[in-house]
Amino acid sequence: MQRRDELEHNLAAVRERIARACEQHGRAADEVTLIVVTKTHPASDVAILAELGVTDVGENRHPEAGDKHREVVEAGIDLRWHFVGALQTNKAGAVARYADVVQSLDRPKLARALDRGAQAAGRTLRCLIQVDFDTTDPGRAGVPPQDVAALAEVVVTECPHLELGGVMTVAPLGQDPAPSFAHLREISTELTRTVPSATTISAGMSEDFETAIAHGATHVRVGRSVLGQRSLLQ
Ligand SMILES: *Cc1c(COP(=O)(O)O)cnc(C)c1O
Repeated sequence: MQRRDELEHNLAAVRERIARACEQHGRAADEVTLIVVTKTHPASDVAILAELGVTDVGENRHPEAGDKHREVVEAGIDLRWHFVGALQTNKAGAVARYADVVQSLDRPKLARALDRGAQAAGRTLRCLIQVDFDTTDPGRAGVPPQDVAALAEVVVTECPHLELGGVMTVAPLGQDPAPSFAHLREISTELTRTVPSATTISAGMSEDFETAIAHGATHVRVGRSVLGQRSLLQ
């Protein structure tokens, strides 16, 4: 019961912060979907979150995500599963079987692998293009802004089992996130000119989701503010 109380309390606080940010920036509260990022936390936490009305959860690693998904589905709990982590091509087929949305699409080869995986699973997989605004760290996941259009083109023209849903970013570490979120919104506006249905803007985490909401985020991905600190090993 204690964990349930903790999650209920944290979740109420996060929902309140979302509502306040929406109000402050002239947006309706239902324009923003909360994705609770449950990585490193057990399936039992996911079950509690579902009871508390959470509809969307995020995971960043395979096979952890797949194992948790199976456990939760076997308990009869229906949620939307977002895969938000860096994804190796050789794991794409597995992830395409259980993820509802892959938010970390960042290269043509991964798009093609996910497309094959979705086809094999007999489903259509929604994908977001992950954009990286950090010019100081070349190791980060995501495509640079200038490569978004070309990757979108690959998805639309070569990947019939993928549905391009929009864009996602993780703000550069230790910098003001506002310029990145503003730039992501411009990229989204540009993308929706060619793919009108690609309206999702996934931006903002525990530290910066109010700023993301100010800049048009439709989905915020919140982990620690709901679930508490993750183990340092993760
Ligand atoms: C872990 C993670 C989050 C959530 O981060 P918190 O700081 O715990 O809110 C959001 N997005 C991605 C891609 C993540 O890996």
